[in-house]
Amino acid sequence: MCTCATPPDDARLLAFLDGEPDAALATDLVKCASCRERLAALDTQQRSLMINLRQSDTPSSLELGEYVLGLIPDARKREIETFLHGSERGRADVAQLRSYLDSLKGDIEFSPLERVQVLVAELVRGLGPAAGPAFAPALAGLRGAAVDDGTRLYRAGDVSIALDVMESGSSRMVLGLVSGAEAEGLEVELWQGDALAKVVPVDEVGNFTLENVARGKYTLALTAPEIEIHVPGFDV
Ligand SMILES: [Zn+2]
Repeated sequence: MCTCATPPDDARLLAFLDGEPDAALATDLVKCASCRERLAALDTQQRSLMINLRQSDTPSSLELGEYVLGLIPDARKREIETFLHGSERGRADVAQLRSYLDSLKGDIEFSPLERVQVLVAELVRGLGPAAGPAFAPALAGLRGAAVDDGTRLYRAGDVSIALDVMESGSSRMVLGLVSGAEAEGLEVELWQGDALAKVVPVDEVGNFTLENVARGKYTLALTAPEIEIHVPGFDV
């Protein structure tokens, strides 16, 4: 039986578990075995809830990106918000994604605040759709797939990016090769307007593959901690 002058309710015990200072409750707990038992039971219950939440509802970083961009269906959005409510790490990730997206707004050439240099890549060689598929037969034989148009080569500073668009079933695939940049930590993002369509890592030799890409006009962004290279008007 509870012997406390003011028996604490569950909400107060939960707040205490969360680390909220409550000197009066702490004093009561020393004296009241019944409240100590309830506190222990609530603690166990909360831990198992957190474990279940972690297993089923932990969104991937890609999904958090879609959440930030407002691309998540409402039902899932509520689950993610529940997750974020209980996850400081998740909230930090979301805040970081938001500030990253803010930094992309506008055509920023250089943002000293973020210490991220943003370069816009120039097309240095490429056939483009208008020039016709001159390389197509050779590449098609090599890769066993039809080629939309030739390899497009972009350059920004010392970095060059070669891009091939291939048919892959009902959608398309983009094969890329980055050279002149440290591949460690490099990622490739595919943006359609303000929406992030895909993110893939660049492997240790500079290759990346974007699969299941719908036809359209994109901005491809090569990102690293201190540099971003944008390829605007990239047609797939
Ligand atoms: Zn009590």
